Amino acid sequence: MKTIIVGVPGGGKTTVLEKAKKKLPNYETIKFGTKMLETAKKQRIAENRDQIRKLSPEKIKELQRKTMKKIKQKENLLVDTHLAVETPKGIVPGMPKWAIEKTNLDRIILIEGEPEEIKKRRKKDKTRKRDDFQLPPKQHQEINRYYAATVSTITSSPIQIIKNKPNKAEEAAEKLVKTIKNNEK
Ligand code: AMP
Ligand code: MG
Repeated sequence: MKTIIVGVPGGGKTTVLEKAKKKLPNYETIKFGTKMLETAKKQRIAENRDQIRKLSPEKIKELQRKTMKKIKQKENLLVDTHLAVETPKGIVPGMPKWAIEKTNLDRIILIEGEPEEIKKRRKKDKTRKRDDFQLPPKQHQEINRYYAATVSTITSSPIQIIKNKPNKAEEAAEKLVKTIKNNEK
């Protein structure tokens, strides 16, 4: 089973997935952004993960292509990635059609946070540079759903939405584990 775990920056996707991973020993997790950054650093076009979305849509596409090539397409794969990437030139797809076709993906899990909480978290997190988004989190989460619907239609994959409520990341992680295990049946 190949699953993409998606959500807006600061929505808690990585936190929830890190917690859930401990209970999913048979699954391999890939952070798409980390793989993209490795390539971007080699090319000296970005030094940190928040610079990737400032690149041109063409450059982002090239990084996506190189990253897709690096990912070994195994079963039981959980990919931490993005569906709607806000760039200065507009929103670009995190999973373009050609990428979807290479993945054979069969599950889409959206992690959604509370907009006000997301804004606070972005400001507080000093390890990231996430205070320059034009899209309000509420709208970005809506747009993610549109992109999720597109991916779902192309792949016939079900979408599941998990709410990451303030201070309840553990609960969201439990739900994620249950959802993934339930999908095995
Ligand atoms: P993250 O650590 O998940 O926030 O990922 C770091 C950065 O990588 C994000 O801010 C995006 O700019 C970029 N990124 C991650 N996944 C994708 C993707 N599928 N397509 C394009 N950019 C991506
Ligand atoms: Mg993350």
